[in-house]
Amino acid sequence: MFISKSRAVILAAVLSFTATTSSQAQTPYRLPATHTNQHRELIANQKPLSAPSQKVLEDVKKREALENIDVFGSHWESQSVNPYGNSVSIPAQKEINVEDFVMPVPGRVTSPYGWRPRFGRMHRGVDMSLSVGDTVRSAFSGKVRLTKFEGKGYGYYVVVRHDNGMETVYGHLSRFLVKPNQRVKAGEPIALGGNTGRSTGPHLHFETRYLGLAINPAAIIDFENKTTHREVFTFDKNSYEKSQHYGPAKVKSRSTKFAKSKSKKRTTASTSKKSSRKRSRR
Ligand SMILES: [Zn+2]
Repeated sequence: MFISKSRAVILAAVLSFTATTSSQAQTPYRLPATHTNQHRELIANQKPLSAPSQKVLEDVKKREALENIDVFGSHWESQSVNPYGNSVSIPAQKEINVEDFVMPVPGRVTSPYGWRPRFGRMHRGVDMSLSVGDTVRSAFSGKVRLTKFEGKGYGYYVVVRHDNGMETVYGHLSRFLVKPNQRVKAGEPIALGGNTGRSTGPHLHFETRYLGLAINPAAIIDFENKTTHREVFTFDKNSYEKSQHYGPAKVKSRSTKFAKSKSKKRTTASTSKKSSRKRSRR
């Protein structure tokens, strides 16, 4: 009798608790007016529980501070767009801090990164619209490594190495506003846009490289919204190798009806072990 009474008490307590929570759930939920400000403060103070992505960013920053000397200390005295060549081992993954990004030019992407069947070669960056004389800005903070001219390619171009370990390339320029070894901040003017080199109209050819490997800028940057997808970009060697596509696809479809399955096969063909091994050497 005593036991069943206490059970009833527990049951009643559980029921009343359930009733309380369900009645709370039914009342329309409103955030306190100060919540947004509090939330902002939490993020600003890097509270790891409320903002795990900020924690990752902090770790990346700490590691970068330690590696900073190394970023500018090796493979610097080179006249090549890829100063690393085959002398460095490419890590399987690397987190790169891209939070201080500024659009090099405000224009839109007119030609994406990737294989160009018309020209039979890889396009290692994106083309962005501009008018001759428009200001071109450094995408991240760093130090100018090269200002050069290449008549059959980039035309007048600038290479900047960044604090985050990446390098960016700006091609087809009309005028330099910086010199090699000069420190630049993200968004600082480095050149004026143009139409020099292998170019068929004024535009900026923009590349994002890590250890010499030209990564698709669109993997890092959300060009439409003029920002990066995330504060931290994770370079992934495997994804990079998959993104390298040389030559036309071997699989041909018989009709447009199979266009979808064709593109699927194409992806499979381009990611086969044999072709990626061949590509990784380039
Ligand atoms: Zn281009």
